[in-house]
Amino acid sequence: MLYPSVPAKYPPGMNRFDAIVIGTGQAGPPLAGRLTAAGMTVAVIERKLVGGTCVNTGCTPTKALVASAQAAYTASRGADYGVLVEGVRVDMPRVKARALAVATSSRLGLDRWLRDMKGCTLIEGHARFEAPDSVRVGTDLLTAPRIFVNVGGRPFVPPLPGVDDVPFLTNRTILELDQVPEHLLVVGGSYIGLEFAQMHRRFGAKVTIVERLPRLIAREDADISEAIREILTGEGVTVRTGAECIRLGRHERGVAVFLDCAEGEPTAAGSHVLLAVGRRPNTDDLGLEKAGVATDARGYITVDDSLATNVPGIWALGDCNARGAFTHTAYNDFEIVAANLLDGEHRRVSDRVPAYALFIDPPLGRVGKTEAEARATGRRLLIGRRPMTRVARAIEKGDTRGFMNVVVDAETRQILGAAILGTGGDEAIHGILDVMNAGLPYEVLQRAVPIHPTVSELIPTMLGEMKLDT
Ligand SMILES: Cc1cc2nc3c(=O)[nH]c(=O)nc-3n(C[C@H](O)[C@H](O)[C@H](O)COP(=O)(O)OP(=O)(O)OC[C@H]3O[C@@H](n4cnc5c(N)ncnc54)[C@H](O)[C@@H]3O)c2cc1C
Repeated sequence: MLYPSVPAKYPPGMNRFDAIVIGTGQAGPPLAGRLTAAGMTVAVIERKLVGGTCVNTGCTPTKALVASAQAAYTASRGADYGVLVEGVRVDMPRVKARALAVATSSRLGLDRWLRDMKGCTLIEGHARFEAPDSVRVGTDLLTAPRIFVNVGGRPFVPPLPGVDDVPFLTNRTILELDQVPEHLLVVGGSYIGLEFAQMHRRFGAKVTIVERLPRLIAREDADISEAIREILTGEGVTVRTGAECIRLGRHERGVAVFLDCAEGEPTAAGSHVLLAVGRRPNTDDLGLEKAGVATDARGYITVDDSLATNVPGIWALGDCNARGAFTHTAYNDFEIVAANLLDGEHRRVSDRVPAYALFIDPPLGRVGKTEAEARATGRRLLIGRRPMTRVARAIEKGDTRGFMNVVVDAETRQILGAAILGTGGDEAIHGILDVMNAGLPYEVLQRAVPIHPTVSELIPTMLGEMKLDT
């Protein structure tokens, strides 16, 4: 076993703490750090792996795998760069071992930090509320006047017809594969599904994405969806959108997804199927009803702008509060709660500028509103756009796929949103994010002098060429 079990350190009868943290995702551990530094005794309860989703089955291993897939892709394109590489072969056990090593190192570092933290007691087990100020872990009852819930989420398995009749993969179990699937079917054409689809294609699998909606990653603007579809199909991924009535069944090749699309075959057959249709919060077995904590219809804990629940003394942080679905939003939840509780500040979630990335290659960096969302506000808009074919750095790097765009309020001069789909897009977007966070007009960025040759250097040019949206 990679992970040593965590013994309860506290003596029997000493179960009263100043604070309890349930879950060791992205918010709980740093919050325990701040609370103990302020002199509080803190019980941190974890039912599985310290570090939660990001460290163990989310960002860390998947981005390590994306890096391996990128290495395979670049090697296969070596001749384009004048580098002759013969017989590119992917050694999946080594790819997997590398991702596991990166994740394990991160987990063990966090584990050690929590164990050595003065005033912190790390407890292994599943926590359930017994009352607003008490939580049961096995036979132990812990009490505290402050309880912080950081329980995250898990893969949502949709009730598709046939789902019980076939073996399927989730974003968690696909990490355990020792071999490249012969043909991977990915049900769900959104963030998680697309990253796995491209990565496995680059490892050598045939890949088919099946998406119910008319386009991939439908929360983004239509031109982003289309460009991403082109990137994926350009690498040989088959994309089936508008797939109604998705059903699963056994097939001589392994597993089949039956679908009813506007065009194409009614069946996609493959060796493996990944269900990547979203996540659900880990709140269904938390005893929330005993504490009186309110949730929405999907089980997400209802919180106010400071992340307090309806029950005084209980806060919810991270993915389980539906105010974010990312590592950086969960961490920011910690910063907000810690600043308000310990520093006398009044920080709010609504002050956060939404930003995220889709880590296909080239990646999509996103901030603020999409063009469609900006138009829906009814404001007069300035819109800028530039293809990566007109970005010197992209040409030099040999990857001109994608484009960047920006949308600005024509009256206030504030940037409302932007997307950079292209090489370095996940990093370059931060220039725009920083200006939005500072609340500065777009001219500040337009007049900046960025470094040449970078993707960022074209952002001022794009801002200078914006047109009024008609
Ligand atoms: C495949 C994948 C890729 C991702 N990639 C990215 C990315 O690139 N960038 C990004 O920003 N985000 C990414 N995410 C999202 C990111 O992982 C989460 O947003 C992040 O982990 C924040 O989660 P959290 O802090 O809310 O809780 P989690 O990290 O989910 O941790 C919750 C913890 O609580 C524990 N727990 C749950 N219930 C109980 C209980 N009753 N008692 C005790 N312990 C309990 C769980 O075991 C878990 O350890 C990805 C997610 C997935 C699935």
